[in-house]
Amino acid sequence: MTEAAILSNHDQSRADIARWTCPHGQHAGHGCVMCYHASGEADPALPLWDVAVWFTSARPIPIKALHDVHRHGRQFAIDQPSTPLVYVLSGQARAALGVEAVAGVVGYLVQNQHIVDEFVVTEIRAIHS
Ligand SMILES: [Zn+2]
Repeated sequence: MTEAAILSNHDQSRADIARWTCPHGQHAGHGCVMCYHASGEADPALPLWDVAVWFTSARPIPIKALHDVHRHGRQFAIDQPSTPLVYVLSGQARAALGVEAVAGVVGYLVQNQHIVDEFVVTEIRAIHS
């Protein structure tokens, strides 16, 4: 069985926004460094989420920085679809809730400002694998 959670910027109701707030009070789309660290030490019994985050960067991300992401221990990747300044960060995170998994994956960007210092998340998918 697959569970999916999708966030887009269109028509977000107040209930949706509450749903996308992590236990530390951060909106998943803004990322949460605490969720990022928590997912690194998460109980292996917790669900594993496949997360994809579309974001726009204020500046182009250097190719070298994109390659550095692949060397990171958690098998995250940043790919660039055809649109300039639009990127997709994908990765897996272990967490009880999809919102924590997403906040943790976006938290990776917050934690690594040498990769991208200014970004706006436009769409998120989290699939419980
Ligand atoms: Zn958090």
